Amino acid sequence: MRKNAEKTEHSMLSNMLYFMKLLYSVSPLLVIGECIWGVFLTLPTKLVSVLGIKLILDIVESGENLRRIYYVVAGIAALLIVSRTIAWLFREFFWNAERENVYRGLNRKLYEKTISLDLESYDNPEFYNNFILTIESSSDSIQNMLGLVSRYIGDLVSLITISSILFAIDPVCLLIILVFVGVFTPLSKKIGRLQMERRRENTKYHRRSDYFQRIFYLQDYAKEVRMNGISPILMSRYNDAADDVVENQRKYWSRISVNYFIQEFGVQLLGFMFVLPMYLGYCVLVKKSLSAGDFVATFNGAYAVATSVNFLTVWALAVFEEQGRMIEKYREFLKCEHAITDGEHEAECAKPEEIEIKNLSFTYAGSDHAVLSDINLTIKPYEKIALVGYNGAGKTTLTNLLLRLYDPTQGDILIGGKSIKEETVKSHRNRFSAVFQDFQLFSCSVGENVALDINPDEERVLEALSHSGFSKKLPKGIDTEMLREFSDEGIMTSGGEAQKVAIARAFYKKCPYVILDEPSANLDPVAEYNLNQAMLEAAKDKTVIFISHRLSTTINADRIYVMENGRITECGSHAELMEKNGTYAYMFNLQAEKYRK
Ligand code: ADP
Repeated sequence: MRKNAEKTEHSMLSNMLYFMKLLYSVSPLLVIGECIWGVFLTLPTKLVSVLGIKLILDIVESGENLRRIYYVVAGIAALLIVSRTIAWLFREFFWNAERENVYRGLNRKLYEKTISLDLESYDNPEFYNNFILTIESSSDSIQNMLGLVSRYIGDLVSLITISSILFAIDPVCLLIILVFVGVFTPLSKKIGRLQMERRRENTKYHRRSDYFQRIFYLQDYAKEVRMNGISPILMSRYNDAADDVVENQRKYWSRISVNYFIQEFGVQLLGFMFVLPMYLGYCVLVKKSLSAGDFVATFNGAYAVATSVNFLTVWALAVFEEQGRMIEKYREFLKCEHAITDGEHEAECAKPEEIEIKNLSFTYAGSDHAVLSDINLTIKPYEKIALVGYNGAGKTTLTNLLLRLYDPTQGDILIGGKSIKEETVKSHRNRFSAVFQDFQLFSCSVGENVALDINPDEERVLEALSHSGFSKKLPKGIDTEMLREFSDEGIMTSGGEAQKVAIARAFYKKCPYVILDEPSANLDPVAEYNLNQAMLEAAKDKTVIFISHRLSTTINADRIYVMENGRITECGSHAELMEKNGTYAYMFNLQAEKYRK
């Protein structure tokens, strides 16, 4: 993943239009409806407070046909009831359901992008923070943006309508309002920037506190937390992160409050509660250019205009600015480029071909030493290859490179004589079945967990489970739910049983290559023996590469590569390496001796 630019690339307006266009592409009706809703909610009340009251006062002042007041009041009531009812119906019967569709549409875009991210993105804390911020705030962003735009349009229409009325009565009060608002606008920008900075820093601390919080309640950690003395450490780390959040709130609270105060004091108190009423009072009492109805209409109208202008140019701008930055992150995230890019061809997923690793070296981003150095090896079709070596030797990294989860810093990997970079990433990965050391089971049926498909083939699932040695009773066959996340009837598995489900995936998938990282780590000796046999039998039409620390599993491998400090130091069959009496023989004898004793 390439680093994204620090600076905001697009203007606030461009970001707003981008997001509204995005929302419009998912639900045009919601966007249009929301805008009309904003007008229905804002304009009638403001009109009533300006024209309605003026009409009544004018009737009273003229002294003619006072019954007209009833008609005016009835008209006002009808306007308010009808507009509110329409707004309520829209909200209750359309908005609530449609909003979920919009969440779903936009989140789908985010998730599609997320699963295509390079693994390297997760190693970059800055990108990861922005990534979390984007994902977590996407629903809020949608809600905030729609609410803001609807209110903005409502206020804009109100502003134009009411200020036209005011302009007709007295243009000077409009000028007073604009002068005050104009002077204090730069403060709003500052407030928006501070709010965004606070949020960004909070995400960093929240990520830390969330991690320690999760450890307290997740089942995976339940035994560790109860059986050792880690709780005080976790609690102290959690407290530190929570203190950092509080400290950060404090740091920004005073700066934001001071700016808000100056802005509110200047615009609201000084401008609209003092200068404007003084001017209006002068017009009515001294100049006598305004009637009683005009006075009330102008004062209410001026206040309506003031709040609209204040909202449109100060408050909404600050929020738009904050939202704009969020949308910028959203945009950056959606368009961030990958280091691991597609080649031009679709890889064939038929029978295994020769795999050749040539002069390969690899250094993780941000690290200054190579994890793999000058690896050269060739794997013939259908071979069963074992990678062994001490922890941290680079075995998992090598398989990650084979799967193009990372790309080599130097050298190349060829399959069937063609660089794997020439194939599309998806088609390349599709020819592998990989069972990782830290495999995951999902809260889905057993069939779906094995097939990793929503339409599992029952016969093949059961066959794959039998090859991997899974023998737990399944009350509902392959439809039995795994885990108890959503169903009380879900089955819970031991570490070994879970691993067998994961291994069954390798037997199920029709593909020429299998990678197993520590496949027998959780298995008992019988299951381990059976797995070895199954691997020879069920995977005989596949090339298998497996990493193992249990050296009894490597005996039948066609070839064993021993890795030390990122290099291949020994290579040969079990017999050859035992003969050689090097690292492999030392490790094997150590394990065997333990059993003999
Ligand atoms: P093995 O599978 O042989 O135990 P790995 O391939 O997992 O070894 O790791 C090799 C080395 O690379 C280790 O020193 C490990 O700390 C380092 N490493 C693994 N993953 C990353 C990563 N994402 N970022 C930086 N270093 C890593």
